[in-house]
Amino acid sequence: MPPSKTRRSARPGRGNHAKEAEVPTGKQAVLYARVSSREQEREGFSIPAQQACLKKYASDNGFAIVQEFIDVETAKKTGRTAFTQLLALLKKKGAKAPVVLVEKTDRLYRNLKDWVALDEMRVDVHFVKEGIVVSEESRSSEKFIHGIKVLMAKNYVDNLSEEVKKGMHQKCEEGHYPGMAPIGYLNVREGGRSLLATDPERALLVRNLFDLYDRGEHSIDDLAEYAQQSGLRGKKGGLLGSAVIHNALRNPLYAGQFHWGGKSYVGNDPALITWALFERVQARLDGHPYTRGRSHDFAFAGLVTCGHCKGAVTAEIKKEKYVYYHCSTRCQREAFVSEAKLAAMFAAAVRPLKLPEDVREAFLASLKDSRRDIEVDVRARTVAAQARLERVTRLINAAYEDKLEGRIDDAFFNSKRSEWETQRAEAAEEIQRLTRVSAKSLDTAIYVFELANRAYDLLISREPRDQRRLLEILLSNSVLAEGKLTVTFASPFDQLTEPTTGPETENGDPGSPDRRHSVWSGRQDSNLRLLGPKPSALPG
Ligand SMILES: [Zn+2]
Repeated sequence: MPPSKTRRSARPGRGNHAKEAEVPTGKQAVLYARVSSREQEREGFSIPAQQACLKKYASDNGFAIVQEFIDVETAKKTGRTAFTQLLALLKKKGAKAPVVLVEKTDRLYRNLKDWVALDEMRVDVHFVKEGIVVSEESRSSEKFIHGIKVLMAKNYVDNLSEEVKKGMHQKCEEGHYPGMAPIGYLNVREGGRSLLATDPERALLVRNLFDLYDRGEHSIDDLAEYAQQSGLRGKKGGLLGSAVIHNALRNPLYAGQFHWGGKSYVGNDPALITWALFERVQARLDGHPYTRGRSHDFAFAGLVTCGHCKGAVTAEIKKEKYVYYHCSTRCQREAFVSEAKLAAMFAAAVRPLKLPEDVREAFLASLKDSRRDIEVDVRARTVAAQARLERVTRLINAAYEDKLEGRIDDAFFNSKRSEWETQRAEAAEEIQRLTRVSAKSLDTAIYVFELANRAYDLLISREPRDQRRLLEILLSNSVLAEGKLTVTFASPFDQLTEPTTGPETENGDPGSPDRRHSVWSGRQDSNLRLLGPKPSALPG
């Protein structure tokens, strides 16, 4: 599609008013429009409608549209070529990249990967219908509102894939590891399903790691070095750090067993090592006092990293009832911290979080928008699954009649029927799955709403185990060093805090506000203002 000429009556004065047509003056912009296969027949979603909306905005705001990127998704073709081209253009132009005009968040971000890709470009994006401008200079409030949508979208995508994982339970029962092949294995397709096969290039190297560790002469760090020297790399070619090596040594899959969804299964995939070797290695790993304990049973395990060695902070029970957290690696430089103390430090860390009054309305509207977008997606997926269900049911019935009338033989009928029955079961399962995903997304919306309003209150009123779920939404990273907890807020909650977070804020020092760009301008007091959410105001 050729670049369209836009009216330039509203262009800002840049002194360049003589030249015509060829070189557009004003701020350069590109427009991106997308319509999904599901939306194509629906009114108001069409490409021309989006183009008209964006062109009017450009004209009203002095943008010259230099290129248009249009994606029309079809049911068969899933890749978005125009979006890819848009990314390529932005990358090429670098600092001189034009502004991106798009109708709504969901036009641009079909999934989280899109968000990350565009976010890394650091280009200015105008979400025209939502009235949001995302740029380096954007106000925190705009970043926050935008971040809420991204958070909700990410959560939804995660929930979808999590539900799919549950469907993998069946595969586990049959002894096949349902996940991505760990290093040393490859995922191969066999008879329409994905199975594990040994990786001819890496399997031996993985076995050597076990053998070397079993000798007791090598530390995990030594093994990481060995991996590096022997050319053992990750799937994407990256170096394997100590944490990855440690995880590999802990993975019973290599010895013919695996864990999935909190359960243990006997594997039918090829083993790389004997069970005896695996057990010896576990004993050696356990022999170190700091690796004992089943970490997933503790509220905050895996949520915090050690500030000295970057290892995970895990927990164990002392005197049969007290839960203590400590560094899981050998570093031993961090003292034990009780669960109560850790919970208190988390609470103190989230205390500076505050939702300014003037953003409340926009925040709520944004959450409701997200909810609606998710519901639209859930509904469309459900309709599609229902259609598949009905289709295979018809096929089964028709084939049954064909068989009765002797038009097809038993063998053909049976093979077809089992294939269709599988499809029917899958479609039925997906419908149930979508119902759960929808409910989960509503939960998240409520959590996000409450967290933004009164994170501290919410946190201290919960048991540690329930605190974890809130903290997972709220924080991207927590580091324990010298007995102090330093947290990094996840987007978009990072926009709601003072520049300094963590225990340092407790002693009254507000920190130097010039280090970070995103400080609320409207902020006056350092106390958390309690804004109790009205149930009627909750999204959904
Ligand atoms: Zn450590």
